[in-house]
Amino acid sequence: MASIWAMETSIRRRKPLAGDLKTEVAVVGAGMAGILIAYRLQKAGRQVVVLEAGRIGGGQTRNTTAKITSQHGMFCQKLIQNLGRERARQYAAANEAAIRAYRELIDSRGIDCDLEAKCAYLYGVDREALQREAEAAASLGLPAVYLEQVPLPVPGAGAVRFAGQAQFAPLRFLAALAEKLTVYEQTRVLRAEGQTLVTDRGQVQAEQIVFACHYPFINFPGLYFARMHQERSYVLALENVPKLDGMFIGASSDACSLRTCGDLLLMGGESHRTGEDRQGGRYAALRQRAKEWFPGCREVACWSAQDCITADGAPYIGRYAASRPDWFVATGFHKWGMTSSMAAAMVLEDLMCGRESPYAAAFDPGRVTLGLLPGVAEESVQAARGLAKTFFQPPKERTILPGHGGETAVRGEKAGVYREDDGKALAVSLRCPHLGCQLTWNPDENSWDCPCHGSRFDKEGHLLSGPAQKDLRKR
Ligand SMILES: Cc1cc2nc3c(=O)[nH]c(=O)nc-3n(C[C@H](O)[C@H](O)[C@H](O)COP(=O)(O)OP(=O)(O)OC[C@H]3O[C@@H](n4cnc5c(N)ncnc54)[C@H](O)[C@@H]3O)c2cc1C
Repeated sequence: MASIWAMETSIRRRKPLAGDLKTEVAVVGAGMAGILIAYRLQKAGRQVVVLEAGRIGGGQTRNTTAKITSQHGMFCQKLIQNLGRERARQYAAANEAAIRAYRELIDSRGIDCDLEAKCAYLYGVDREALQREAEAAASLGLPAVYLEQVPLPVPGAGAVRFAGQAQFAPLRFLAALAEKLTVYEQTRVLRAEGQTLVTDRGQVQAEQIVFACHYPFINFPGLYFARMHQERSYVLALENVPKLDGMFIGASSDACSLRTCGDLLLMGGESHRTGEDRQGGRYAALRQRAKEWFPGCREVACWSAQDCITADGAPYIGRYAASRPDWFVATGFHKWGMTSSMAAAMVLEDLMCGRESPYAAAFDPGRVTLGLLPGVAEESVQAARGLAKTFFQPPKERTILPGHGGETAVRGEKAGVYREDDGKALAVSLRCPHLGCQLTWNPDENSWDCPCHGSRFDKEGHLLSGPAQKDLRKR
């Protein structure tokens, strides 16, 4: 299930690290965040290397829908409530500055990545809520107006329109930007010891380290595992569709995201907390909605991705922890990682070069906000549930049919089994190697997913995405 970006773009392969090295800055992760951060730091005169466990852009970035926008759903009122007006203003200004920075970078380097100016629409049927959101957004300096109608087949919907937004082809952009960077692919960072990163290919000593690996996998210090969870969403690329003018996101949590891409329409939705999709049917539900909204449409591709969600709605960008002043982090992008990655690159360039950042306070990972405490409590409850399942629920033997996966008992112990069509059983431990939570089967993706922190593994137990850094044990 490759995305249209992955199908159209081939990024030059890089060699793995071969032995030890020293550098000024080491960036962990070569997704949109890592590459932008490395690019800006290198441009500012720093010596930078990027360490990537897989391929450049091979993480969540290859499966994004790549809207470059400061319109992040129904978020402005929540943000003002959680961060306070001043920091919410900084958040808005950083995201608008990020859109300008993309334009300048793409224009100045002549990057061929289909950058197109678009309006962004937040649509919904609760007009009063949309009006309040438009007012809140405008009060933060965002280019927002309320509209009575939205150009979409949603009966009775109004919208908040943001002018001056954009969309692009993310992997083509990333390929061009990475061209002049030193990136080591197939090089997984296993742990960090002070200023040394220990990888599976050698050690890297760096004056400053940036964790841009989507979900920070170093649990202590930082405690990011207690402050974020992950959410998955699903995307269809459709042809034979009307040409929509704009990018769209629904105001309710079950609504759809839409953008064009040439003659195609990308339709996203069916979000859920990673690890909570036991029933499956996410693609089927999205296909059903596509048929209702765009009769005659044909599907050309489908894929899915996930992102980190923080308790108060803003990413964590800045110093990793007070006890590690030379470690930095960029995570928690809430499915808005295009502008957030650029905002991260701008903020970290300032902080790491010893300058003040006008936006740093809004993203400070050490912030304490009103929204944070209940959020942390909820994360802890969820993690405790995941752990409790492993330890307290006895294994039950169940028949797993061909083409299905599920929990069962193998030699008296709890295990996850996927049964191939030919009857062969693939059995793995259900204990997540990250923090030991019990994994659940995701029938939409044929994967084992962690409901606490969102790590994912394929049916054979190979790691798909972190924070876990190891495969599952075979049973
Ligand atoms: C369905 C969906 C649609 C979205 N659409 C949009 C959109 O329209 N606009 C928008 O702004 N945002 C969107 N997003 C969000 C956006 O795609 C993400 O926020 C963004 O791609 C995250 O980039 P990243 O660099 O943080 O992570 P990644 O792209 O995942 O990069 C992290 C990299 O770190 C590497 N890594 C991990 N651990 C290690 C290790 N130990 N050692 C070395 N390397 C490691 C991984 O291999 C990976 O390549 C969407 C998200 C979803 C789920």
